[in-house]
Amino acid sequence: MKYQIIVNRKLESFGQFVTEGRDEINTTIVNGQDRPFIFGSKLRAVERRTIMNRVRKVLHNDCYLQVHEKGDSGISGLCLSCPACYLFGGTYAPGTGKKIQVNERSKVNYSEAYPFVGGGIRDVTFNAVDEQKNITGQALGVNQVIEPRDFINVVDVETDNEDWVKLLVWGIEHSSRYGANVRIYGQMKNEILGIIKSDKLEVTSYSLISKFVDSVKVKEHIEGLKKGVNISISDDGVDTLIKTLQASAEVQSLVKRRNPATS
Ligand SMILES: [Zn+2]
Repeated sequence: MKYQIIVNRKLESFGQFVTEGRDEINTTIVNGQDRPFIFGSKLRAVERRTIMNRVRKVLHNDCYLQVHEKGDSGISGLCLSCPACYLFGGTYAPGTGKKIQVNERSKVNYSEAYPFVGGGIRDVTFNAVDEQKNITGQALGVNQVIEPRDFINVVDVETDNEDWVKLLVWGIEHSSRYGANVRIYGQMKNEILGIIKSDKLEVTSYSLISKFVDSVKVKEHIEGLKKGVNISISDDGVDTLIKTLQASAEVQSLVKRRNPATS
């Protein structure tokens, strides 16, 4: 079964969403307008980290997006034995002495996030001394940033177990900083407009922002499809959810592949 989580990502400060090695905001043409957009991979990385942080707190496992000095995570840093690794997928390739390699495909697909209107890009001058760059003195730099606005983004999850959607919903709702220079930019409030359950993909973020003028209209459209499901999770409930998912057949079969000798 496929689930589609439709998220209104409300950028509440300036946001710096650039491609590595470029200082310009990514834009694309929608309805004849040049509009800034956010790569799905940027959203995904933040929400994966949010979920991984909580999983580590609950399970005390050694699982990081980069290699962690202590512990037994493989060269990717991922443990490939926890709910976050099952949901987002990845590769475990141990260092010397062990030969087991495990690949897990991702169950989650993030689309790009698009805003309802074009424009809203400006250059902000900053004092380079405050930046983490090798510029000294009173040099001034320029950041290209997006002004506060709403973005629509669709996250697809492929699973027959609704608990996975629940975990992702928690991750989306508890993430709030995106893009570059998150000390000063990229504060975002995520509002889930609806969750669709279907055997096929029903909406895309691009079609939603091409057709509708604001998040209220998007929400009405989603409700009109009559394929909505109510999935929510409190912050208190997520620790139990993580433990339940760790004990699930999905994660236990991953654990077995990752560590066949001990299971
Ligand atoms: Zn893991």
